[in-house]
Order: sequence, then C-alpha cells, then structure tokens
Amino acid sequence: MVTAQEQIKTKAEEIINKFKTLNYTNSDEVINDYRIDISSFIDLPEEFLFKSDKSDGHKKLSEMFINGYEHLDLSIKKQYKKEFFKNVEKRCPFCGQLLESSGKADSDVPTADLDHFFPKFEYPQFSLLPQNLIPTCMECNRIEKHRKSILPSEFKLALEELGLLKIFQQHPNSHFKLYTSLSFDCNNKLFLKTNNEAIHKLIKLYGLNERYHTIKGKCFNILWSIVRYSNINSVESLERLLENMASNNWHEINDGYSLNNSPQIWQEFIENILYDECKLMALWDEVKSSELSFL
Ligand SMILES: [Zn+2]
Repeated sequence: MVTAQEQIKTKAEEIINKFKTLNYTNSDEVINDYRIDISSFIDLPEEFLFKSDKSDGHKKLSEMFINGYEHLDLSIKKQYKKEFFKNVEKRCPFCGQLLESSGKADSDVPTADLDHFFPKFEYPQFSLLPQNLIPTCMECNRIEKHRKSILPSEFKLALEELGLLKIFQQHPNSHFKLYTSLSFDCNNKLFLKTNNEAIHKLIKLYGLNERYHTIKGKCFNILWSIVRYSNINSVESLERLLENMASNNWHEINDGYSLNNSPQIWQEFIENILYDECKLMALWDEVKSSELSFL
C-alpha cells in the first residue's frame, strides 16, 4: 500500500517536474537549491538558500509548493494523520490536548490540523515535506505565529535541546510531546524544564506562551467548579480533594470535566497548588470568600 508520506512526496516530485518544463533560465539552479535544502533538512543549515534567494524562479517554485500543499487531496491528509498517530495516543504534540476522532467511518483519524513546523510562507521548500507536517489541535494551529524573526541557527539550538530533531529523522514513526517539557514556576506561570534560552525563544515565537496561558485559565476554571461542587469546609478537606485530583487516575474517572484533555499540564497545575502552602491558603481564602458570597 502507498503511504500518505509517499503520496505527499510524489506530489512534490510532480511540482518539480512541472517546473522543469517551464521556461526559466535558472530553473536547474532553483531545483538544485531545493535539493540542497531538502537533503540538509535534518542538519538544519545556518542559512536556507531558498529563503535568501528572491529571484523569479525561486518565487515561482515557492508558489507552486504552497499551492501544491493547499491542493493536496484531503484523503491523503487524513491518511497521513492516521499514520502519524498509529500506535500512539492521539494528543496534540504542543499542548497535550486529546484529539477527538472524526465520525464513525474515520474513527482512527483524529480531528487535527496539519501545522507546518517550518512555516510554509517562510520555508516554502518544506511545505510538502512530510517531516515538516505536524498534526496539532486546531487551537495550537491557529495561534498567531511570530516565527518570522527567528534565525535558523536559533531554531537549530532549540530543536536540538528539545530532542525535536529526532522527529525529523523518525517522524511520523515516533511521536514527540512538547507539552511534557512544561511546568509551573512559583508564580504559577508556565515554564519549560530547562534554562536553554533557545527553547524559550522557540516557545515564544511559536506563540505557545499565550496558548499555555489559556490552558492554565481553563485548568483553573475546572478546578474552581470542582471545588465549588465538592463539600469543602476546611483547608484539610481542600487538601484531600487536591491530593485526590493529583492521584494517577483521577482525571480519567472524572471524564465529564474533560481533565483528560491535558493530563500533564493539569497534573502540574494541581501539584503546584498542593505542595505550595501559600497557594493552597490563597485558594482556601477564595473558597471561603465565595462561600460567603453564596450565602
Ligand atoms: Zn494543541
């Protein structure tokens, strides 16, 4: 059976062949640049030639690749997602949100967008490269990206540190999970479990900070509604409830609250409150004051 990856590649080859027949004086040069970029994709060169060359030939081929992706058959994209999540949990690699399956007929195809890790308008030569296509939740794909200002060398550092380079070697056979590198700091802000500046830049330019902020807000709302409907009458009972939430399978039992959507982030969120006396007391104060206002 022809895999989706092979079909995407075939599409790219079609585009190259079509470009060859077009009357460009430098078409060989353009294709050569494309080949260099593709072959050094895994090593991420300091400067992508394609990006820096603004000649007509490069521009035309860029357009063809971007259009080629836009016109890629939906069934190929579906099959690709299916292959990506084969034998792994269907979660958004960026935020960890559980991806729902779309309808009965495609029950093993999760509802996911295909995000170009290297944005297609910046790096058109990678727009039809299967390794550059990451299925994400719709929210993560719709974040306004701030990737324009980043240098390939910064990307390279960040990716190396995150071990993301492996995805470009093995993807889609292996799955990467960016969200497992997240944690909360003492001000309840999300941070990455690393001091590497390049990673922080990557998260920032990817707009993920805002995305994580939204997720944290959601976590807080869920926590708040659970607390409100639980019988909390002392700080000890609040503590017990949080301990219960932090236990391994709690989020699965309480499916109705959709806690299993972001288990890693949720877990960190609860533990962060639970094991910090000040935060626990602050939450307790809020519980008390809201109870008073209910009376
Ligand atoms: Zn996501």
